[in-house]
Amino acid sequence: DLYSVSSPLPSITPSPSEHRWSDTTSYTAKKKLQSWFQLSNGNWELGTVESTSGTESVISLPDGKVLKLKAESLVSANPGILDGVDDLMQLSYLNEPSVLYNLQYRYNRDMIYTKAGPVLVAINPFKKVPLYENDYIEAYKCKAMESPHVYAITDTAIREMIRDEVNQSIIISGESGAGKTETAKIAMQYLAALGGGSGIEYEILKTNPILEAFGNAKTLRNDNSSRFGKLIEIHFSETGKISGANIQTFLLEKSRVVQCNEGERSYHIFYQLCAGAPTPLREKLNLKSADQYKYLRQSTCYSITGLNDAEQFGIVLEALDVVHISKEDQESVFAMLAAVLWLGNISFTVIDNENHVEAVEDEGLLNVAKLIGCVVGDLNRALSTRKMKVGNDNIIQKLTLSQAIDTRDALAKSIYACLFDWLVEQINKSLAVGKRRTGRSISILDIYGFESFDRNSFEQFCINYANERLQQHFNRHLFKLEQEEYIQDGIDWAKVEFDDNQDCLSLFEKKPLGLLSLLDEESTFPNGTDLTFANKLKQHLNLNSCFRGEREKAFSVSHYAGEVTYDTTGFLEKNRDLLHLDSIQLLSSCSCHLPQIFASHMLIQSEKPVVGPLHKSGGADSQKLSVATKFKGQLFQLMQRLESTTPHFIRCIKPNNLQSPGLYEQGLVLQQLRCCGVLEVVRISRSGFPTRMSHQKFARRYGFLLLENVASQDPLSVSVAILHQFNILPEMYQVGYTKLFFRTGQIGVLEDTRNHTL
Ligand code: ADP
Ligand code: MG
Repeated sequence: DLYSVSSPLPSITPSPSEHRWSDTTSYTAKKKLQSWFQLSNGNWELGTVESTSGTESVISLPDGKVLKLKAESLVSANPGILDGVDDLMQLSYLNEPSVLYNLQYRYNRDMIYTKAGPVLVAINPFKKVPLYENDYIEAYKCKAMESPHVYAITDTAIREMIRDEVNQSIIISGESGAGKTETAKIAMQYLAALGGGSGIEYEILKTNPILEAFGNAKTLRNDNSSRFGKLIEIHFSETGKISGANIQTFLLEKSRVVQCNEGERSYHIFYQLCAGAPTPLREKLNLKSADQYKYLRQSTCYSITGLNDAEQFGIVLEALDVVHISKEDQESVFAMLAAVLWLGNISFTVIDNENHVEAVEDEGLLNVAKLIGCVVGDLNRALSTRKMKVGNDNIIQKLTLSQAIDTRDALAKSIYACLFDWLVEQINKSLAVGKRRTGRSISILDIYGFESFDRNSFEQFCINYANERLQQHFNRHLFKLEQEEYIQDGIDWAKVEFDDNQDCLSLFEKKPLGLLSLLDEESTFPNGTDLTFANKLKQHLNLNSCFRGEREKAFSVSHYAGEVTYDTTGFLEKNRDLLHLDSIQLLSSCSCHLPQIFASHMLIQSEKPVVGPLHKSGGADSQKLSVATKFKGQLFQLMQRLESTTPHFIRCIKPNNLQSPGLYEQGLVLQQLRCCGVLEVVRISRSGFPTRMSHQKFARRYGFLLLENVASQDPLSVSVAILHQFNILPEMYQVGYTKLFFRTGQIGVLEDTRNHTL
């Protein structure tokens, strides 16, 4: 019974964060006020306060039930007139239940977008909502529509890009399945509607089905989960038309190619190819149905409800044409995909009593050799032996079964990852901005959100590290820079505290004793293992407040979004990501497209610092950047790029874990709202002055609206005169040394009058 809390004095107290967020006045429940109280399952319920005596309140519920509760456990509810406000800033009481209720109220009416001050909150509807038709785009374009929307935020980005001549970014975050990728597409759709001429905007939209086919997969959380991060930078000409674009991707999950969990799938493109390839291509690649391939068979999941892979294949083919990938290149891509699938079917047989193996010369081996264009014997050797240098001699070492399987899988993963990078490169060539670029751009970032599973590995480690960086960027812009500006300009301001995550970032980045440095160091030791790595962390980092050593090979990190325990199993191998020289030589010598694709990929990786064991026998392995170092480099580059833009933030929220419409789980939503500091942002925006303009600009922009002459023509006097004329209340603005600061919405009336007068 949910109402079990009623007897006689329940021990429910507001959560600590509730104290933090609610206005202090909200605890004194007044007569006949509506109040929130928490049920035993954690959900909040609305009741009417009938009476309060001492520390006890009597609450009546809509169904007639009456409860006695501790008065201090009640949280003030907003008056009904504020139900469903489209900006949380408008709430009189800003507490967790009120925010949850407001979002739910809107969600139930298909209003999935709500502003939280400057941030757009988007709650995944898991169904088609009528918000994206062309007339919506038109309405937002001519500002006939004001309600919160991805279109509105994108429109603001465009306007600010033009007005301020500053590049813009739209940063989309949220958990897996929260709707980031869909949101990014909706923003792209709006930008594309601005047009560009020469069909470039159409080309940009067509990159989506391609990247999703090759980089998305069904997971337990999302049927179309992106397994890579993406930044798309869309360039504009002086006339505000799209002139080109550039895509950067981050950290593709390679392991999925050779291994995926029950109920999940590998990358969509494999199933699409198997189901949709036309007969001539099928025969040429010797394609079978998906269930004939071991890599695809392990998860026993081949199809996605409501999705036709063959149909999707047709869409991808068409998109490849649009981005100018030649038919010949397309066929090579498919041959490479088929080679990856057939690689998984290669099996090994033991050939001596030391457990050394050789590949079985069956359909698998023959098909791979044929598809990549090499001699069967060479392929077999590359998979079952390793050349090594001992002293001055080259010796050939035979591999054991598990070594051979690792070699085979490493080859499959490498081919796929190279193919992905190559595709992105080709797309970028096609979207390249002409010579007449103006350099103004809007970037859209769709990157994996914070992840915390029962078992967390190297991938989560990298992803969560990236999220710490992004969170810092968010904090810097919405809290730090904002407040610094107030203080610098000398206005009245009481500082608002926020959770700074610098300590956690330092834990990752400090040299030489940070998580990343120690990982790289251990990865270069020939004898380093996941266990020695874990022990080293515990030895050096135990005093760090964000770190905790766990039993055996595990450790925990206190992330801004919660504590995550990582299991170091596989960390070193994933970080080294080695491909043996034998495989590299094989790939560079075969007569398919691979050498070309591979060459550029390998070149990119040959920068310092290098990682990988310098073998006792003399280093036969490729030397390249460790995965973590490369990722960190990409991330720094990304942050640098974002720092030079005006950011717009969208926080996507997943209302339930079942991917089903109409289901709003308070606890789940709350946890996500807490994670990304949405309420703090509202609080600071509400008490802050988000709109600002220099005295000069303000005087120049609105001075002509003055009805009476001002004695002094200095910008400050003119500005003050304007403020008086328009009756802007003193509490709605502050005069700084160099700028005027306004509360939200204050400048609107000035802008409107200006627009009507001009
Ligand atoms: P993420 O990228 O955050 O992992 P996605 O963008 O792939 O999540 O969204 C997961 C699924 O949720 C989509 O495949 C789609 O079914 C649904 N979805 C997300 N956003 C919307 C939306 N605005 N309208 C309708 N369905 C949506
Ligand atoms: Mg996604």
